[in-house]
Amino acid sequence: MSGQHLGLTAARLHALPVARPGSEVFHLYVGPLTPTGRYVPRTARSVCSARTRRLTVIQRAGSALDLGGRRVCGRCSARLSAESRRAEQPTNRDAAAEFHVGITLGDLVLAIAMATSTAETHRIGFAMGLRFPPAPTKRPKEIASDRDALHAALFDTNAELLRTRDRLRMAERTPEQVAADELRRETEDDLRARAAAGRRKSAAMDRAIDRRNRGSYLMPHERELLNSA
Ligand SMILES: [Zn+2]
Repeated sequence: MSGQHLGLTAARLHALPVARPGSEVFHLYVGPLTPTGRYVPRTARSVCSARTRRLTVIQRAGSALDLGGRRVCGRCSARLSAESRRAEQPTNRDAAAEFHVGITLGDLVLAIAMATSTAETHRIGFAMGLRFPPAPTKRPKEIASDRDALHAALFDTNAELLRTRDRLRMAERTPEQVAADELRRETEDDLRARAAAGRRKSAAMDRAIDRRNRGSYLMPHERELLNSA
């Protein structure tokens, strides 16, 4: 496994993103937090064992996690990659389900935030499918039960996954794909413009026919329109 699936490895270990205030790097941390859930205990260390001042947990907002443009600590990711290489990789679906047992939607939110390729988002979607029922197509309007809460969280997490995948897909396009997308968009715009012009013309035609049938005076452009039909 390359660093490509780092987020999923972090998720499987229930890692949390932590950082010093103002730092452009975030570390990964596995273990208990202070009672407020906001800090790493002073005696604990991040995955890379860095000696840093107090580390603050980068909090999720529901199913979204904004890492604030921070990049993952190189030592933390090297340690985790080594960890995931040591772990036996699942070879079938049952083994994969076992492998991801205990992974929570919150864990997956971190994996989504750390994803760097569409392939990785598909892996995350696969892991999500092993652990949870499919996301509902509509978000529950009210949260009246645990089931509603789960459905809302599934909906939100899946929406975040799809948004991330779309963003990464745009970034992964080759110059040829960018050109093809532009051409397609221009063609679609052109077709839409033609369709709108066609609808305007037929509405004007209908009005002109209506006026002719009522015996009203026809403006020159209306006569022209009727003659063109
Ligand atoms: Zn680190």
